[in-house]
Amino acid sequence: MSSGKLIIFSAPSGCGKSTILNRVLKLNSDLHFSVSATSRPPRPGEKDGENYYFITPEQFKEKIANGEFLEYEELFQNKFYGTLKSEVEKCLDRGENIVLDVDVNGAVNIKRLYGDSALALFILPPSLEVLRERLVKRGTETLEVIDERVSRAEYELSRAPEFDRTIMNDDLDTAVNEANEIVMEFVNS
Ligand code: ADP
Ligand code: 5GP
Repeated sequence: MSSGKLIIFSAPSGCGKSTILNRVLKLNSDLHFSVSATSRPPRPGEKDGENYYFITPEQFKEKIANGEFLEYEELFQNKFYGTLKSEVEKCLDRGENIVLDVDVNGAVNIKRLYGDSALALFILPPSLEVLRERLVKRGTETLEVIDERVSRAEYELSRAPEFDRTIMNDDLDTAVNEANEIVMEFVNS
């Protein structure tokens, strides 16, 4: 059996990446989502083992020491995010395709590890102002955290040219259709 492929979604926080990714996953029941580990607290409605494995910074550091991560980043102070080797390998070994939601550094690192077996997609916001508005509207972060995320977004947007494809998320349905077509073309190639 051939090994599965990796589809990496990346974007500054608030671009609509989770919304697009979840719609693409719903359209394709044969795609599997790689659940990352994080030391940030869960948002209302988020479930452990579904959105993330929510662990403490100490548990995260223990997993780093045990070599359990394919990649990880400390994106905000004491807020670690990492892709578990076990999550990815179990799918690829079964020949299943896996979707990852990671920051720009994670995306570039995974692409480097998997080469042509990985497709790196970058979701663009119409502008930084719109990005900020979406984060405020989502209402899941304090204004201080939103500022932290918007200032990181400027750096992240500068990394877009390192990706295989970029998708503009202005109109949501258009962005979902485009993402779905790109993913289908890749998994069937
Ligand atoms: P991310 O996963 O990139 O942080 P989300 O998917 O949580 O972003 O989207 C951020 C917010 O913007 C959510 O409230 C979502 O409903 C909204 N949103 C996503 N895409 C669009 C769009 N095209 N137009 C307007 N609002 C959007
Ligand atoms: P959030 O806190 O909004 O869920 O995620 C913040 C950022 O962390 C997003 O850009 C998301 O893609 C990224 N992220 C989530 N999981 C991982 C991971 O396993 N590795 C890396 N490098 N980034 C991740």
